[in-house]
Amino acid sequence: MLQVDQFPCLSDNYGFLLHDPDSGETAAIDTPDGKEYLRQAEAKGWTITHIWNTHWHPDHAGGNADIVKATGATIVAPKEVEKLSAIDQLVAHGDTVTLGEHTAHIIDVSGHTNGHIAYHLPDADMAFVGDAVFALGCGRMFEGEPKQFWDSLERIKALPPSTTLYCAHEYTAANAKFALHADPENTALQSYVEEITAKRAKDQPTVPTELGRELATNPFLRADDPALMAKWGGTAPHETFAALRAAKDAF
Ligand code: ZN
Ligand code: FE
Repeated sequence: MLQVDQFPCLSDNYGFLLHDPDSGETAAIDTPDGKEYLRQAEAKGWTITHIWNTHWHPDHAGGNADIVKATGATIVAPKEVEKLSAIDQLVAHGDTVTLGEHTAHIIDVSGHTNGHIAYHLPDADMAFVGDAVFALGCGRMFEGEPKQFWDSLERIKALPPSTTLYCAHEYTAANAKFALHADPENTALQSYVEEITAKRAKDQPTVPTELGRELATNPFLRADDPALMAKWGGTAPHETFAALRAAKDAF
């Protein structure tokens, strides 16, 4: 059984260590803060053997060097991470990587940046999605195009609804406000937001989330919903997605 250690990093990132007790291998999922990852691993008694980067932003790959220096870990990453760090194993859509006997499938989820990937582990029913999808939100579109980002979200939507999504930031409270503005009649969304508000009031994380719940409530994953398309405009889902993304940027 894979184990996930989740901890806050920097101002609003989450760090994740993925540990396989059978092989003893441990993957750092992104590296917002190398020193904090090393502290967390030591507290667990784990040694980081791999780094799995989702995209090149410094709050995701900026700690690579510190971790490699301390542990000699193997860096698995899309080629854009070369902007920040060396890469030992370049990966792209359709590739697989392993942690012990567990396999992660690489999915292209570009749009926030080009060369943004997710790691989907079917046997563990989990995916590490970086800044592609958040609880009730998605990443800002810094480098990509609406059609590209929507196609990426469709690949996430196609995973089993039971998939646990590990998103890289605690942005949920702000996302919830926009989601209610975007889709005010959605009763599943309304009850989800009540839970989120209660959790954040107690300073509890809202990550991870479950894909099935996001499919019913996250406006960015629902840009193909006829009611949202009618409300936000667009004759194709990626146009509605673009309208929602622009409205959120200005919200
Ligand atoms: Zn990012
Ligand atoms: Fe980020």
